[in-house]
Amino acid sequence: MTKPRVIYWFRTDLRLHDSPALKAALDLQPAVLWPIFTWDPHYVYRKRGGLNRWQFLLDCQNDLSRSLTKLNPKSKLFVLREAPQTLLPKLFKAWKVTHLVFEKDTDAYGRERDTLVEKAARDAGVEVVVRPGRTLWDSDALVEKHAGKPTMSMAQLQAAGAKLGPVPRPVPAPDHLPDPGEMPVDFEHDPPNAKPDHNADRRTDPESAYRKLAGPNDDFAIETMEELGFPPATTPHRGGETVALKRLDNLIRDKRYTATFEKPKTSPAQFEPQSTTLLSPFLHFGALSVREFYWRVQDVVDAYGKGASTPPTSLTGQLLFRDMYFAAQAAIGPEFAQTAGNRYCRFIPWHLPSKRDSDTGLAAASGDYHVDSDEAEAWFQRWRAGLTGFPWIDALMRQLCEEGWIHHLGRHAVACFLTRGGCYVDWERGADVFEEWLLDHEPACNAGNWQWLSCTAFFAQYFRCYSPVSFGQKWDKEGDFIRRWVPELKNLDAKYIYEPWKAPLQDQKKAGVRVTGDGLSGRDEGTYPKPIFDFSMRRGVCIEAMKKAYGVGLHGDDPRVLNGTWREL
Ligand code: FAD
Repeated sequence: MTKPRVIYWFRTDLRLHDSPALKAALDLQPAVLWPIFTWDPHYVYRKRGGLNRWQFLLDCQNDLSRSLTKLNPKSKLFVLREAPQTLLPKLFKAWKVTHLVFEKDTDAYGRERDTLVEKAARDAGVEVVVRPGRTLWDSDALVEKHAGKPTMSMAQLQAAGAKLGPVPRPVPAPDHLPDPGEMPVDFEHDPPNAKPDHNADRRTDPESAYRKLAGPNDDFAIETMEELGFPPATTPHRGGETVALKRLDNLIRDKRYTATFEKPKTSPAQFEPQSTTLLSPFLHFGALSVREFYWRVQDVVDAYGKGASTPPTSLTGQLLFRDMYFAAQAAIGPEFAQTAGNRYCRFIPWHLPSKRDSDTGLAAASGDYHVDSDEAEAWFQRWRAGLTGFPWIDALMRQLCEEGWIHHLGRHAVACFLTRGGCYVDWERGADVFEEWLLDHEPACNAGNWQWLSCTAFFAQYFRCYSPVSFGQKWDKEGDFIRRWVPELKNLDAKYIYEPWKAPLQDQKKAGVRVTGDGLSGRDEGTYPKPIFDFSMRRGVCIEAMKKAYGVGLHGDDPRVLNGTWREL
């Protein structure tokens, strides 16, 4: 019998430690093993992946490639520049592949892509081996234990998890790697010439880099930012398994912090260093295994004894939330990322509907509350640009844009403000911005948390709103965080730093700033915009509107929502 010839397909599992899928590939005792990464037009062409996330991905790829070469000097991460759906069937034939191995992905697009690839493999007589490893428990198995339903609360997640037994312990990293086989690519390949329907620009249209399947030098090299036509990233946060494991080691060394961590007590205004682990981007790209993270923390907690925190606020509790959203997404499918068609998501007639809904004319601004969608659109643009006139919100949005990460409670503040606690803009609009800017963007966690904050699913206490003034003040009286991110206000007295419009002219002058204008129609140096609205008034309006929407009680799968007749209600 011929020995296996295996492609190991890296995707969001860019690590060697605790990789059940990689272990399964090596257990086949292959004659040759190709560790590959394929470009995917779904990600490359979508305007969604910001520069910071690209840089983080490249960091993870480079680090992994070096680690592979340490195990076998002939090996590395081989990058191929074509969509996996069209590329892999050609590789199966040209490289005489017997097995394709990869880590399971339950994202909506991931499932669709993998189904196509698995079919092509079956047609080519290639055996496919898939192992879960992205979550604590296999998300599909959790759904099965929850009677096929999505896990919409921590209690439901924990009950389903208990039925599956303890979280699996991590598997050891490999200590050897077979040679890669020959890699002929003299078959016809498909530069993805079908343009996306948005206006492609150089940032998202690296077609020149696409032309050669194996890269400009035919060496399957990892792409660079320059080659992609991208300007340098602005984030100080760098990726890679080596960095991730070092960060985890440092965390675990601080036994007290690790064992007594309570999320609600960590400050969203703390920076350099931040108050939480900042391990989320590593988990997203799989540079850190979530099970490794879980067990390293749990072992500290077990040894710590009395005084250790417990889920949901503890560190392991945070990882359980992650699994909760993944399993909810696994059960609901592609509709999880939107309201339309999602029976678990409440329908709210937002002043500014989602992009998709306004494109199709499905929803319109709610006339009752004297805000038209143009006004709400302007609020949305000012929120995105960090120019709302509320320094706490603006500081967070500017940090997000520049660094690709903000603290969880900072995300709460800006998400509540944009949706049911201020602007009354559809959560899908905000989720789109996060999708573009977050280093840790995770489809399940992003959609799930936006639903939570907008009170459309997971959480229903819409009368509890975050104040854009007092919430920040609670953590940071002097406004140091604001001074860091909104330098226009850095000399303003602490008395006015959260409400600069209240500062008398002479205090503004003394601080070298004028509070004037709307921030969008050209901004003079030394100015900071007036607030977009009177927050207490807006809070009242939003709560009233939410009350009415809850009273009507429509969900995303209601035919009246889907055909737009909700307006008649
Ligand atoms: P820590 O507090 O150190 O927590 C450890 C890990 O637990 C995190 O790395 C993360 O993987 C997980 N975790 C913590 N809180 C949550 C949570 N509420 N939901 C899911 N997982 C959690 N997280 C993402 O990973 N990707 C996203 O796209 C994302 N979008 C969000 C959007 C909104 C509107 C909100 C409110 C939260 C979002 N989160 C998202 C959740 C959370 O804010 C981040 O996971 C967390 O802030 C990351 O920082 P950290 O690694 O320091 O977290």
